[in-house]
Amino acid sequence: MGIDVINDSHCHFFSAGFFTTLTRQRQLPDTAEDVCRELGWDPPGTPEALADRWVAELDAHGVTRAAIIASVPGDEESVGIAAARHPSRLVPFSMVDPSGDTPVDRVRRAVAELGVRAICLFPAMHHVPLGDERTMRVIESAVGEHSGVAVFVHCGVLTVGVRKRLNLASRFDLQLGDPLAVARLAMAFPTVPFVIPHFGAGRLREALMAADACPNIHFDTSSSNGWIRYTPGLTLRDVFAAALAVVGPRRLLFGTDSSFFPRGWQRAVYDQQKAIFSELGVSDEDQSLVFGGNFDRLFPISGGG
Ligand SMILES: [Zn+2]
Repeated sequence: MGIDVINDSHCHFFSAGFFTTLTRQRQLPDTAEDVCRELGWDPPGTPEALADRWVAELDAHGVTRAAIIASVPGDEESVGIAAARHPSRLVPFSMVDPSGDTPVDRVRRAVAELGVRAICLFPAMHHVPLGDERTMRVIESAVGEHSGVAVFVHCGVLTVGVRKRLNLASRFDLQLGDPLAVARLAMAFPTVPFVIPHFGAGRLREALMAADACPNIHFDTSSSNGWIRYTPGLTLRDVFAAALAVVGPRRLLFGTDSSFFPRGWQRAVYDQQKAIFSELGVSDEDQSLVFGGNFDRLFPISGGG
């Protein structure tokens, strides 16, 4: 039994730009190297060098393609450079803050010039409701003339490990990450794929309701899904069983939430999820969709080789 292709729909691209943005938020003059030394992580170097490292890491684990998320607003250039260097391996996603400076222009450029394939919204982090006009404008500018751009919306509980490690305050408004608000957007943009990571990160029931109502809503399976502890007795196996029953195998995207080096690609997440699929008796064909096929369908390799 086997799945031929593994694609990871959720990795973070912790570029030098990412670290210097965190540094600025701490109001310290540290460089990316300083921050990485403090964290015990490898400094990323240039976007090209980090892209090469990612591809070597994917090779080491037999992973074909990965989405790489620019994980602070304004860092879309880093993932654009990385994906231009390895167009058949890396798929650029970018975090967008609809309350930031000229987000519409940024998004247009990110999509049209840098080849960004998904914009990532974190309403709880940016304090912009999903129904807000600013959110709508950002989505319109992303998907406008460029069919195929997806919208990723983080819902539920949100913790950013690196912010904790650096003692950066995270005043996230957790009320804003409601999957039912994603359903409203998904209905307004019925041809646009929406992705809710981590099964809604604690909002499983609402995420299932939203995806049941909207055929363009997908889930990514990424991370350790530690939110399951908010529902006593719930296991990750139960979560997969429910998602398969309600959403089906065509709208689940495998992901790990891998981010920094030297830790690299989070093989344990894959092993755990693969074991759950086997326990549930999911066919090889359906597993192939979740672990690779769905990602290739949503994010086909674009021109440039
Ligand atoms: Zn993540």
